Amino acid sequence: MHQEIWNRCLLIFKDNLEWDKYKTFFEPIMPVSVKQNVLTIQVPTLFYYEYMEEHYIDLLKKTIRRVLGQDARLEYRIAVNKESTTLPGSSGQLSNPATRMFPDKLPNPYYAPGIPGKTIQINPQLKPEYSFDNFVEGECNRMAGSAGLTIANDPGKTAFNPFFIFGEPGLGKTHLAQAIGIKVKEQMPGKTVLYVDATKFRTQYVDAQLKNQINDFLHFYQYIDVLIIDDVQYFEGQTKTQQTFFDIFNHLHQRNRQLILTSDRPPVDLQGLINERLLSRFKWGLSAELKEPDYATRLEILKRRAYRDGIRLPEEVLEYVAKNIADNVRELEGALNGLMFQATQSKKDITLETARATIERLVKHSRPEISISYILHEVADYNRLNEHDILSSTRKREIVQARQIAMYLSKQFTKNSLKSIGNQLGNKDHATVLHACRTVNNLMETDRLVKGQVDALAGRLRQLC
Ligand code: ADP
Ligand code: MG
Repeated sequence: MHQEIWNRCLLIFKDNLEWDKYKTFFEPIMPVSVKQNVLTIQVPTLFYYEYMEEHYIDLLKKTIRRVLGQDARLEYRIAVNKESTTLPGSSGQLSNPATRMFPDKLPNPYYAPGIPGKTIQINPQLKPEYSFDNFVEGECNRMAGSAGLTIANDPGKTAFNPFFIFGEPGLGKTHLAQAIGIKVKEQMPGKTVLYVDATKFRTQYVDAQLKNQINDFLHFYQYIDVLIIDDVQYFEGQTKTQQTFFDIFNHLHQRNRQLILTSDRPPVDLQGLINERLLSRFKWGLSAELKEPDYATRLEILKRRAYRDGIRLPEEVLEYVAKNIADNVRELEGALNGLMFQATQSKKDITLETARATIERLVKHSRPEISISYILHEVADYNRLNEHDILSSTRKREIVQARQIAMYLSKQFTKNSLKSIGNQLGNKDHATVLHACRTVNNLMETDRLVKGQVDALAGRLRQLC
């Protein structure tokens, strides 16, 4: 019975579609059952289901209504080994993608088995200057650096898969991730390495969808031995891209290919931005943090960089720069460039005196970092409370509220992660900080006193920027 009904639907699809689309997308579908007005069909993967819902929803709706009557409904079943998952159909998007049943091992027809002996040449998109040789090791990056080297010697075979590198901007995530790729290529030229940032991955994916080249897109990624995805926080909100990446991730991981991911925050702080299933994958291997470089590392980076760029600078100038620019490596490089520019303009050697003027200007222009302890001080002062009380675990309402405001302002005015804010404001976890930020946000709309306080404090802090 269901086969008969489906055959009638197929005739309509055939009439309304180009031949190749009909063959590719409609022939592989299997009718499963018809119960009253519900037709259930089986599709090979979740991706397939989404694709159908996105591209053919109108045609599907019209067709089953024509065959089964006006209140006909469609349900999908996703083939997962022998089990299956049922999803509602023809109703646009599912309400909560994060809780979807997502099969772990997709029998994905797009991943045709590789053709033995055939290799394709892929430009790995690596920049030679981001090598390990140019990566200065220090306390701030020792663990990440040595894990990176271990991986480069044995990609896909260590327990560090995926390797998740996180840290503030300008601390060397891209450099380290690329260094691994470069080393793999040096030692094992036959391996296919690819560096791509998350935004570009997404553009490629959307493009492939528009051009109906999803198969090619997935095939391409199926070949990679070492896949580096930079700045995965930019996957935020990109549900489809994330799901496609999830498929690719699983495919590669199951075959012991190496995945390297970077992000401006640790996996826990990606909660809410990245689909839970994908996020849980991110935590499988090793997460390593890049921290702000200490003085010795900063000095060493400057020395090497100046040497590489052929700039001769007196030791005291380098020390001065390393002492005064502490935030991140990118700013150190900016300072060096500033000095070089100054030297070429004035055609004079750089002395400590001239360097001072340049660096002072740079430091002034860069926004000073307001510390959490300063915010705490201001909040305590405003509320006539003791800082210790705010840090204690008391549940007194006024103190809890002051703590929440301190958390909210720390999120607004510092670059600290939720976790770090929690740690510094009474040893709370990141979820507490997130909750605090939301609460204060809500209160600002309903409670004039809270709004007045937050505005006043924010005004004071802004003066410091
Ligand atoms: P991120 O990706 O974390 O924002 P990048 O990798 O782009 O940071 O690093 C910023 C700049 O600082 C790059 O030019 C990089 O070469 C340099 N850099 C960062 N860390 C180091 C390091 N440990 N040794 C040498 N150069 C570094
Ligand atoms: Mg980067």
